[in-house]
Amino acid sequence: MAQFAVIGLGSFGATVALELTKSHHDVIGIDITKRHVESIAEKITHAAIADATDEHVLEELNIQNCDAVVVAIGEDIEASILCVLNLKNLGIDKIWVKAKTKAHHTILSHLNIDKIIHPEEDMGVRVAQALNYPMVSRYMYLEDDRYIINIPISPKLNGINLFGIMQSVPEVKALLIKRNQDVFYEIDNNFTLKTNDILILEGLLPYLKKISNSFI
Ligand code: ATP
Repeated sequence: MAQFAVIGLGSFGATVALELTKSHHDVIGIDITKRHVESIAEKITHAAIADATDEHVLEELNIQNCDAVVVAIGEDIEASILCVLNLKNLGIDKIWVKAKTKAHHTILSHLNIDKIIHPEEDMGVRVAQALNYPMVSRYMYLEDDRYIINIPISPKLNGINLFGIMQSVPEVKALLIKRNQDVFYEIDNNFTLKTNDILILEGLLPYLKKISNSFI
């Protein structure tokens, strides 16, 4: 179990705090707005009304003992930057920060933090991809246009030989197939798909797009 802090409990920060709690981690949530703290106080380990631009306040809350801190202050860029500088002063190793604008991103990229998050953009890309490729149920971006995707197998493909499809785009790799509680990692040339199998593929986006059309 790790200890995390989430600073800024708007809809993004609150979601992060609740998800980490669901995964059984200790979560301290901080927000300057009483209403936002009260709405989550019962659901996470500790919630505090505090101004994260004040280093002493963060120190009193023992933020320096956290394994990682997520800064989810959006509109007030000055507060976000000051908060990051405070966390750096307190010696926090792992800092993830939500950036709302290009300027915010540029300043953060000079502060040597671990990750700059763009939730709206990330979600926008996901929604656009899902609309374009309805046969793909989930995406995970790796790097450099490389993705892992999930494809639920429709009844139309029941009994089809997977190797035949994969051969048409050899740049894509089939990582595994999930069938109910079973997972198949070794996929031989005779593997036959069944309705509701979940096929997990990895590859560059243009090749994944090409092969996805075989699963309509
Ligand atoms: P979201 O989309 O996550 O709802 P947002 O990107 O619109 O949020 P804001 O609402 O500006 O961003 O900020 C997120 C939260 O950060 C708010 O709940 C706000 O009260 C809180 N916040 C702003 N300044 C501070 C600060 N100095 N210290 C602590 N919390 C702060």
